[in-house]
Amino acid sequence: GAFSLSPKNLPSSLTPPPMSRILILATRNLHKVGEIRSILGDRFTCLCLRDLPTPPEVIEDADSFAGNARKKAVELARWISQIGWTPPTTSNPQTSTQGTTTGLILADDSGLEVDALNGAPGIHSARFAALDSGAPGNSSDVENNAKLLRLLESVPEERRNARFRCVLALTTIPAPGTATSQPETQVFDGVCEGMITKTPSGGGGFGYDPLFTPSGYDRSFAELGAETKNQISHRSAALAKLRDHLRKNDSTGNPTST
Ligand code: IMP
Repeated sequence: GAFSLSPKNLPSSLTPPPMSRILILATRNLHKVGEIRSILGDRFTCLCLRDLPTPPEVIEDADSFAGNARKKAVELARWISQIGWTPPTTSNPQTSTQGTTTGLILADDSGLEVDALNGAPGIHSARFAALDSGAPGNSSDVENNAKLLRLLESVPEERRNARFRCVLALTTIPAPGTATSQPETQVFDGVCEGMITKTPSGGGGFGYDPLFTPSGYDRSFAELGAETKNQISHRSAALAKLRDHLRKNDSTGNPTST
């Protein structure tokens, strides 16, 4: 194949300055996108499903966060490979001469686990309220939070322990013609322990944030603000592992051979 100007092929004295890598986030949730962007900083250019023409609708029917995160990442990677979509930056070194991106896909599957509810809502966090009515699609945050408070109505403070969990799946876009193969995928998880309050408070964040007080704090995620949340959240814990992985590996996301 063509000679590729990757840092691996250069003597260390000629290693180019770090460049921004393209990361395509397999989500439409602008809250998640905002958090991931601010936690990763500007070494990554994060695009999301809203930047792509008609991306596939992925059915999240796996029985774990990791299963759903993998599914979202792999199905998007295959679709991008099949249609030959390229990111808007043509000068990006991750775009090969065939015009096919070799960028990375990142999917986030996350949710809330409440001990007194045996881990519910868990993987059903986004459509917790709709589980009762059978309504299609996700429920609103207000409906989900109201259901959670109702189920915990008689549960005293000392038994309101909960945690947010985030599993990230990172995969590469398969080379053209190989989209049916199983692209190599890595997962990274993060948790944030805390408790469920008796009433909602705060206007920041999203989802269950107004009801979740992280351990060691006396205010909800929605009150603490983005900066504090992004230092201690389940998502930031998982992203720290992902960053470590990318630091040790080359731009394809695969381990660098030594
Ligand atoms: P997903 O988009 O299928 O991963 O569903 C994630 C759901 O879990 C969201 O809709 C929220 O209800 C909840 N969730 C995940 N992360 C957070 C968070 O950081 N704060 C509040 N709720 C969250």
